[in-house]
Amino acid sequence: PLPYAENELAPYISEKTIQYHYGKHLAAYIDNTNKLKAGTQFDELPLHEIVRQSSGGLFNNAAQVFNHYFYFEALHKAGNENPLPKMQELIDHNFGSFADFKEKFTQAGMTLFGSGWVWLVKEQEKLEIWPAQNAENPLKHDKYPLLTMDVWEHAYYLDTQNARAKYIENFWKIVDWEAVEKRVK
Ligand code: MN
Repeated sequence: PLPYAENELAPYISEKTIQYHYGKHLAAYIDNTNKLKAGTQFDELPLHEIVRQSSGGLFNNAAQVFNHYFYFEALHKAGNENPLPKMQELIDHNFGSFADFKEKFTQAGMTLFGSGWVWLVKEQEKLEIWPAQNAENPLKHDKYPLLTMDVWEHAYYLDTQNARAKYIENFWKIVDWEAVEKRVK
């Protein structure tokens, strides 16, 4: 279940978008994953191991399940728009300031062609903004994910139509920095 009500992210992400994005798109990825792994060597593996070890259709669906869990888990109703201490320190160290980080991450979202995700990943104390197409996932590349932004059109088309920039601006209002802080710790 989502850690918030379907209407709680409005007006930044509408109830209708959550109903389709969470209720239909994610649900379809889950159904497909379950069908594709049934009776295979992946059947008893935890999701992150399926993502690491599979390829083709199973990878695409399982990674989309992971990616969406990871995305929805770190959103919350508008409140604290700033990173908490550990993340603030890492962001300052790697990008100079939170404003510089936001600008670079936003730019990565704006320039990602087609469907995909923008990830913030960590290796040791080094943070990296990692844009990825389709269902691509950092676990597959031994990178530790801290935050992700869905830039598939289904994430925003009902709310902002073709205006991905407006969606990204809204995204920053509802990132749950407490969830990100837990991940980094
Ligand atoms: Mn999505």
